[in-house]
Amino acid sequence: MASENLAITWRRIPERYRLLGSRCENCKSNYFPARKFCPKCRRKGKISQRQFSGKGRIYSFTEVSAGPAGFELETPYILAIVELEEGPRLTAQIVGARPSEISIGEEVEAVFRKIMEDSPEGLIHYGYKFRLAKRGQASF
Ligand SMILES: [Zn+2]
Repeated sequence: MASENLAITWRRIPERYRLLGSRCENCKSNYFPARKFCPKCRRKGKISQRQFSGKGRIYSFTEVSAGPAGFELETPYILAIVELEEGPRLTAQIVGARPSEISIGEEVEAVFRKIMEDSPEGLIHYGYKFRLAKRGQASF
C-alpha cells in the first residue's frame, strides 16, 4: 500500500508541479489535469502535452475555515476556482491575500509551494497555489 501511494505521488508530480496539461490539436481544447483523449472529439482527437503559463483569473472563491486533514495549520485559507488564460479551470488556494482583497475577475499567477509533508516517510508534496498578479515577486 505504501509503495503504491509513493508511485502515484511521483507520477503526479510533473503535472502538479509544472501545470502540465494536455491539448487537443483537433478542436484546440486545453485540458487540466491532462487527459488521454478528448471528450469532444473522441477518436478523432489528437492529444499533445501542453505547458500552461500559470496566468489566469479568479472565477469564484470561498474562504475555508476548517480544512481537510493535513491542512489544519493553514486555516482559514482562500480556495478559488481559477480560469487559466488557456481556458481550463482548476481549484487552488490563493496565498498572500485576505478575502477582502480578492474579487472575481482578478488576475492571478501560479506559485509553487510545499503543500504538506507526509509522516513518517517525510514525503513532501509540492503543488500549485495562486497569488494576485498585481502583488509582484516579493509578496509572500
Ligand atoms: Zn478535441
